[in-house]
Amino acid sequence: MIYDYIIAGSGFGGLSAGLLLQQKNYKVLILESHVKSGGCASDFKRISKLNPKGEFIFDVGATTLSGLENGRPLDNFLKITDLENKLKNKLIKQDTGILIHLPNGKKIFRYADKVKWLNEVLKKFLTPDADEKQKLNFNNFWDLIYKLESKAYLMTGKLKKFPPQKFKDLFKLPKNPKNLNLLYYLFTDTYKILKKYNLHQNEDFMLFINQQLLITFQSPPVKVPFLFASMGLAYPSDTYYMKGGIQKFSQAIQDEFENKGGIIKFKHRVEKTDFENGLFKVKTSKGFYFSKNFISNITVWNTGDIVSDKKLKSHFEKIKKSYPDAWGAYTLYFAVEDNFEDFNTLYHQIHYKSQVTGNASIFVSLSMKNDFEKAPEGWRTITISTHLSNPEKWKKMEKEEYIKNKKIFENEKMELLNNSFVNFKNCEKKYKLSGSPKTFEFYTKRYNGFVGGIPSDISKNIFSFPSSFTPLKNFYMVGDSVFPGQGSPAVILGAMNLTELIS
Ligand SMILES: Cc1cc2nc3c(=O)[nH]c(=O)nc-3n(C[C@H](O)[C@H](O)[C@H](O)COP(=O)(O)OP(=O)(O)OC[C@H]3O[C@@H](n4cnc5c(N)ncnc54)[C@H](O)[C@@H]3O)c2cc1C
Repeated sequence: MIYDYIIAGSGFGGLSAGLLLQQKNYKVLILESHVKSGGCASDFKRISKLNPKGEFIFDVGATTLSGLENGRPLDNFLKITDLENKLKNKLIKQDTGILIHLPNGKKIFRYADKVKWLNEVLKKFLTPDADEKQKLNFNNFWDLIYKLESKAYLMTGKLKKFPPQKFKDLFKLPKNPKNLNLLYYLFTDTYKILKKYNLHQNEDFMLFINQQLLITFQSPPVKVPFLFASMGLAYPSDTYYMKGGIQKFSQAIQDEFENKGGIIKFKHRVEKTDFENGLFKVKTSKGFYFSKNFISNITVWNTGDIVSDKKLKSHFEKIKKSYPDAWGAYTLYFAVEDNFEDFNTLYHQIHYKSQVTGNASIFVSLSMKNDFEKAPEGWRTITISTHLSNPEKWKKMEKEEYIKNKKIFENEKMELLNNSFVNFKNCEKKYKLSGSPKTFEFYTKRYNGFVGGIPSDISKNIFSFPSSFTPLKNFYMVGDSVFPGQGSPAVILGAMNLTELIS
């Protein structure tokens, strides 16, 4: 059997590309090394036989979905794949999108509603001596964010080849002077704009902006193009909870792919691809498969290891040299008795001063009250994540040091939770488990446990950013390392753009 497309990996990238191609009647095979789909957006479970009896589901990494507002990437994806009706009742919009706990105890409710949010900004960030001008600056800054954000989504969707590989790719935008404005913000860093509005000296506001950009574009304001920042800073207006957990979203794409005739094989790790006589010969841990085209949903740091074509190998080596660093994650998972104050918010960002990394934050995701697909009655499951620099050092640690470091992190995070949620300390907890970059590398095979894609860096030539296209015809890439901005909207938009161009 010769497939039209073989895809390595069933993360958001591989699954969405697979479904889009399969529904155009191509014969598609997805090969996945793990036992289930989703990658960083997957889950694992624990079963309790005694009181409380039932299943506890833990999201492994991603917990939120965004880009579901009208015309945004996930909304478009659900509409063109007929998944909208199947998922409509399972996707629950969150307002408050995130609750931010600042180190000084201030709580910032990041409301989805724009007017409510602007009032919150003025209430929480304006200093007592502020004049009308400062108020206006905040207003203008957020006005600009919202205006740019929708245009940025239009631009990244319209350009198709995004990130652009050549200057001329940018001129695929409709000829409109307003689009020149977009290009200006693509090449201007966020700090410059904050300075322009005189917001750069507002300490609390800068803490908030820094951590928001870290969880979306993996970098501080000086490194993030303002056009990208507009999407990263507006995303809590468009935050959704998936009932039953994030893997159910991946599972829905997988089910639709299989319903349409696509084939997915688990425990099939792709080890090598050879291009011979116009066909890809794909070697896996379970045997060989053949296709006319190949799509890698594994990162740019890993893909070089599975190719034998010399030009392709040196392409990925070059990328590895130009982009040698990315973040890792420390994660903590447990179930907790539902007897604490959650401020009616599922997603929390708790800021703190780490002895090692300075200003830092943890992202706390709670399962929804009474989401019995995730936890039995009276219980909730929690995923906590935080950024780790130099993730590679975790796999070099001796066993004892590794266990000790995980314990230090676990205690630190539990203390933060105890201090942030009323009565949390007194609630019973079960299944405390933590993950390091080593854990992520083990389960998702991501090099060094690098997650969240390539950190944004405006000083680097945008035309050299890894793309879905490679020097070998018919060999393509999808996933968070080939589309700026991490997460569901970026990865799925990247797959939509690619599949539209090649099919
Ligand atoms: C802690 C954490 C929190 C996050 N929070 C959010 C969030 O709230 N919202 C959001 O939108 N995003 C979030 N993200 C980011 C988001 O999860 C990822 O960007 C996205 O899921 C990546 O999808 P992907 O398709 O690029 O790759 P992956 O999810 O890495 O999928 C790749 C797949 O390929 C498989 N694979 C690897 N090597 C091989 C091989 N050789 N052969 C076959 N299969 C292979 C892996 O097993 C995996 O299933 C978070 C990420 C992390 C780590």
